[in-house]
Amino acid sequence: MKKNEETISFSANKKWLAIPVDMRKQLERNVFCSYCLDVVQIENYVVKESPPGIALEGTCKKCGKGVARFIE
Ligand SMILES: [Zn+2]
Repeated sequence: MKKNEETISFSANKKWLAIPVDMRKQLERNVFCSYCLDVVQIENYVVKESPPGIALEGTCKKCGKGVARFIE
């Protein structure tokens, strides 16, 4: 059975938007990139369900490779 991806990302997005904007900005700028071996900013990300929390999946602002940030 195919899961409804839109519904899933909608509820994940709701959780993300429930976080205060200042905190969200801080989280976006505090993602560890395993290619840069440094803390970087995440770009072009999508919010996904990642029980018990959510995950941001996007790209590293420095090198453009895939990075993810989990938030409980
Ligand atoms: Zn990087």
